[in-house]
Parts: sequence; structure tokens; C-alpha cells
Amino acid sequence: MQPSRLPKQRTLATRSQARILGKNFGQKITYIGGKPLFRGMKVIVNSIIPFPGFTAINLFGFVFVRKEYWDFMSENRKTITLNHESIHTRQLWECLLVFYYPLYLIEWLIRLPFGNAYRNISFEQEAYAHQEDLSYLKRTRRPYNWCSYWFKRSQEKH
Ligand SMILES: [Zn+2]
Repeated sequence: MQPSRLPKQRTLATRSQARILGKNFGQKITYIGGKPLFRGMKVIVNSIIPFPGFTAINLFGFVFVRKEYWDFMSENRKTITLNHESIHTRQLWECLLVFYYPLYLIEWLIRLPFGNAYRNISFEQEAYAHQEDLSYLKRTRRPYNWCSYWFKRSQEKH
């Protein structure tokens, strides 16, 4: 899941990041029949899901994005968002789909008294930490890496 307001410095990849990510950065989204596909991930642009205030939500591997935000996002921002959601898809399968949402909710509740609960959920910490690295899932990620964030906190202020 991603809120629609993100820190400004994360809006675009820097030049050095773009170099790392490859010259095609920002053009990795393939559109088939007007609908975006990202590494085989189905993206459903719509006006209902998720709730206003959130850009995207991953439901069992299907990514729902709000049209009102999607239409105004740069290609880089879209790529980062879809990379973030594809990290969630990997986590989902590691949790055999059914355990993911209960774990997500339980961790959110546990972290709630300590502030910034959403950003501190281990699934989100991993996704945010690596969303700008397009080779993360393919090359460097260790299985179940989200577990390494259980006792960590996000460095983000919001
Ligand atoms: Zn997320």
C-alpha cells in the first residue's frame, strides 16, 4: 500500500540512481490494451480502490491504483510505485497469500502505540527501502527479507 503523499525527494530517481537502474528507467511499464503491466503484474486503474489518500494497494497480487493520482504521476513515480507493489507481491507469496494480511494487520496494531505504524510495518519497511532499486527482486533480495525489519524502525519522519 502507498499513501498518495510521498516525501518530495522520492518523487524522482536522482541521476546517479537512474544510472544504476539503467537507461530505460521510467520506461519499464508495458501497456497492453491500455492497461499497465509490470513484470507480469496486473494493474487495475480505477476510481474506487484504494480509499482516497492512498495511491495503490496490492490485493493478492492484483494492484489497484486510483485513477485520480495515477493520471498525474510521472513515469518514474509509476515505476517506483509498481516496484514497491511487486515487492509486496513477493512477500505475499512467501506468506502463502492468506497469512499476509493478518500479519500486516497484527504488526500495524503492535506498532500503533509507537507512532508511524504504517511505515514501520516490516513489509512496508522492506518495500520502501528497495522500491527505487529495480534489480532488487531479481538479483539482490534474500527470501523473507522482510523478517529482518521486525525489530527495526523506519527512518522516515512521517
Ligand atoms: Zn506498501
